[in-house]
Amino acid sequence: MFQKILIANRGEIALRVLRACKELGIQTVVVHSTADSDAMHVRLADESVCIGPPPSRESYLNIHQIVAACEITGADAVHPGYGFLSENAKFADILAAHNITFIGPSGDHIRIMGDKIEAKRTARRLGIPVVPGSDGAIGDEKEAKRVAAEIGYPVIIKASAGGGGRGMKVAHTEADLEVALQTAKSEAGAAFGDDAVYIEKYLEKPRHIEVQVFGDGAGGGVHFGERDCSLQRRHQKVWEEANSPALNAEERSRIGGICAKAIADLGYSGAGTIEFLYENGEFYFIEMNTRLQVEHPVTEAITGIDLVHEQIRVASGGGLSVRQEDIKFNGHAIECRINAEDPRTFTPSPGTITHFHTPGGLGIRVDSGVYSGYKIPPYYDSLIGKLIVHGRNRVECMMRLRRALDEFVVDGIKTTLPLFRDLVGNPDIANGDYDIHWLEKYLAKGE
Ligand code: ADP
Repeated sequence: MFQKILIANRGEIALRVLRACKELGIQTVVVHSTADSDAMHVRLADESVCIGPPPSRESYLNIHQIVAACEITGADAVHPGYGFLSENAKFADILAAHNITFIGPSGDHIRIMGDKIEAKRTARRLGIPVVPGSDGAIGDEKEAKRVAAEIGYPVIIKASAGGGGRGMKVAHTEADLEVALQTAKSEAGAAFGDDAVYIEKYLEKPRHIEVQVFGDGAGGGVHFGERDCSLQRRHQKVWEEANSPALNAEERSRIGGICAKAIADLGYSGAGTIEFLYENGEFYFIEMNTRLQVEHPVTEAITGIDLVHEQIRVASGGGLSVRQEDIKFNGHAIECRINAEDPRTFTPSPGTITHFHTPGGLGIRVDSGVYSGYKIPPYYDSLIGKLIVHGRNRVECMMRLRRALDEFVVDGIKTTLPLFRDLVGNPDIANGDYDIHWLEKYLAKGE
């Protein structure tokens, strides 16, 4: 087992990882920018190293500074959290070259999944169902027209190097295709420095369903069921559930089995998420994330398994603490992402939190790095906390969520809490009847 882990992240996820390390008796080092000297993870860590000024590029994304912090403190492993360097293959390779363990998969696996065309090809080879579309990058307009005619309109053009929902364009007819192709290519070139795009069938009313997988580092793979993250705004997840209200046990076990086998065949190590769109009973692979997800606590709630403990165990060579048959799904869990944003316009609302009171009681978990008197810096993501609620079934979970949202107090800044208070009383949400477009339509109506 590791002696000392360096946490290369900030906010709630840095604290989340720190807690897991403390439970396992591992010393912790955190790195932080000058804007985060007062952050909770800095206060609670055994050691902290300031690695630079507020802009992420000069601190949280600065590989040299982070490696230097490992060497100065004698850390033997790095947990990257999510975002920042968590899916940076070069970072994983550099750490390996310094004999520091990256708590995540190999640089090669990160590279494959970071290139969407390569990821899709790999998924298809591993027997994972994919969205019908082009086999690789689209050469010219003629090829785009041929593929689109084959799969049928509407189609979506996506950037191979894409991320964060950027570089995607939908074409409803052949007449739209030329413009969609050109705009997607130039957006991709500008945003990612790579204008390779591919084409796939545009699904009109899918749900976003993702499977949590783990490779044990020794050729084995398991799945921890799925999460439904269909409630999104601008392709950003807002509310997540486990299990999905749309799947039955047979479907869960079938798609989970396919994913677990794929992970084993790939020789993958650590946590990963295989993301699908789900429509009319069919799954369509869209991408794989090679890291811990923001929404992992809903899976922890229904399985009772600490996924960060498992990541650390696997990375240290100790394998998983569970076999597939030990992973049972118990009840239902929902996570609400609480952002420091206006609940209607979603404009960021940094500033000082004058009062912070979190709900408690059976089935309630709050993961947050903020506290009363904390000043939210304007430089980073606006996520300030996550409310995770567990119940014996979805109805009990929703009752408890409504109560917990009423108890939650964040004064001094605007947050998305009022949005969740509205959503929890909405009949479609109560029935679990929503797709990936539901939230945007609801917000557009201004209900
Ligand atoms: P990114 O990495 O940029 O987030 P993804 O491939 O994960 O891109 O897609 C993000 C979101 O875009 C999906 O959750 C879904 O809402 C939408 N999307 C992607 N592909 C399709 C498709 N073929 N049909 C319909 N919507 C899609």
